[in-house]
Amino acid sequence: MRLSKYYVKTLKETPKEAEVISHKLLLRSGMIKRLASGVYTYLPLGLKALKKVENIVREEMDRAGAQEIFMPVLQPAELWKESGRWDVMGAEMMRIQDRHSREFALGPTHEEVITDIIRNDISSYKSLPLNLYQIQTKFRDERRPRFGLMRGREFMMKDAYSFHANKESLDEEFENMKAAYTRVFERCGLKFRAVEADSGAIGGSGSQEFHVLAESGEDEIIYCTSCDYAANVETATSTIVELPKAETLDIKLVDTPNVSKIVDVVEYLNVPVEQTVKAMMYKDVVTDDVYMVLIRGDFEVNEVKLKNIIDTIDVVLLTDSEIENLGLIKGFIGPVGADLTKIKVIADKSIVGISNHTAGGNKLDTHYVNVNYGRDYEAEVVADVRTVVVGEKCPKCGGELASARGIESGHIFKLGDKYSKALNASFLDENGKSQIMEMGCYGIGVSRTMASAIEQNNDENGIIWPSAIAPFVVEVIPANMKSEEQVALAEEIYKNFQDSCIDVALDDRDERIGFKFKDGDLIGYPFKVVAGKKAAEGIVELKIRRTNETLEVSKDEVVSKVKELMKQY
Ligand code: ATP
Ligand code: MG
Repeated sequence: MRLSKYYVKTLKETPKEAEVISHKLLLRSGMIKRLASGVYTYLPLGLKALKKVENIVREEMDRAGAQEIFMPVLQPAELWKESGRWDVMGAEMMRIQDRHSREFALGPTHEEVITDIIRNDISSYKSLPLNLYQIQTKFRDERRPRFGLMRGREFMMKDAYSFHANKESLDEEFENMKAAYTRVFERCGLKFRAVEADSGAIGGSGSQEFHVLAESGEDEIIYCTSCDYAANVETATSTIVELPKAETLDIKLVDTPNVSKIVDVVEYLNVPVEQTVKAMMYKDVVTDDVYMVLIRGDFEVNEVKLKNIIDTIDVVLLTDSEIENLGLIKGFIGPVGADLTKIKVIADKSIVGISNHTAGGNKLDTHYVNVNYGRDYEAEVVADVRTVVVGEKCPKCGGELASARGIESGHIFKLGDKYSKALNASFLDENGKSQIMEMGCYGIGVSRTMASAIEQNNDENGIIWPSAIAPFVVEVIPANMKSEEQVALAEEIYKNFQDSCIDVALDDRDERIGFKFKDGDLIGYPFKVVAGKKAAEGIVELKIRRTNETLEVSKDEVVSKVKELMKQY
């Protein structure tokens, strides 16, 4: 492509609305343009990068045996009502009506549509397993669309759905998809981690996220420094911290005037924080049931774990007035001496073994000391409900846990029979018996992956694309547009790259070299080839964007040199 004719408008200033680096650089390099909040046009450069990610995804899905289809964006409400999700999806689902006032959704995901197809088409175990995928625009009216392509309201997703005669077959496909996703992110040239993720109400071990590692990531990932354990902090398993056992003492109610925070309790009563227990009051948003969650004073309640224990969609902390209405006193709540008729108690595993801990006194300005689980109170449920912290022991090998930030770019999930049951997707097994299919679903945020590549690969001058997904791999630049020799050499090299099927841009714009370099750095071409002073000798400069190195290469070797370097950068 000749840049003199190419539609690319780079900006000097960063548009104010952009907060994260990928958003800033995508706008500044003229790759995308905003139409409305969370809605963007891909201009030629941006679309080229998107298509490169898309093609890698497509090739790896095909190689893994999945088959590409293309489903409608427009989905009738009836299907969503059948699965029960018309209401559950809430405000995130974009809804419209046709001229006959019939309701439709703009697809946020396609479990319903694909299950409808399969239940009508597949009736025998002989046609299973089956994995179908598409690459398509998704619509989600996100509460906070932000960060450009990272969290859009209209975005590109690859979504795949698999159907199976039994759980073993689903397990196999899950591993197959895990391997395919690993190849996708490797081929994109990204540093990433596959981590255990929340599988919500469905439970089980069948949920893995693929995170592109970047400081700006919205998610925290916990990983072991000794083994391969890695999990989203939302779900990472905590280990029980053993404390020395002491002889149990008599429980006592003591005055603690104005001492309601754990730090103050520790100081006022002169107890180690490991011997304090706090009570957090939560409500199930679906049933309004109230829970008292007991946890060690220095730990935090993990709300994702809590919602899974309760088996609900979400939980929220009680408001001050809700606490008061239950007869409790904020800052002094505890499991001993409270009216628990309307409250279920959930204890984190960490508190069961603490000898002689403190707890709220359920009277203003009081606390209990020498409280012991089992003797003084019990919980309905004892479970892992706390957030893992860096430095604690790995649940798998006992090694030390560390944390990193990540951007969730892919998610694979064993759905089991959730949708196949709701929509009655059944088949006849070997014995002619009707059975419900097992399902898996597998998503990659194609546009989010493109943005996360920029979050991970940039410097103060602009983007540093990995070659595999760069809009153009090489930019060929005549140093001086007035030098016929340099221009001719640049043209020759440009043609050689084209003949070798390497995506190349020729910067034949009538601009100064300094301007071209700056623009090139911003756009992020992995390599620049400059035909300059040594053009007469057939020697060019090859600049590597990532390392800033400059090599002198003969014109005949430059294509093979770039090919070699592409493996590395
Ligand atoms: P998140 O927790 O970030 O909202 P999600 O759990 O809603 O993600 P999935 O429903 O699993 O996401 O969708 C599959 C993939 O689609 C995600 O892994 C992510 O890469 C991408 N994705 C989801 N929402 C968006 C969005 N609003 N903009 C861009 N990509 C998205
Ligand atoms: Mg979401």
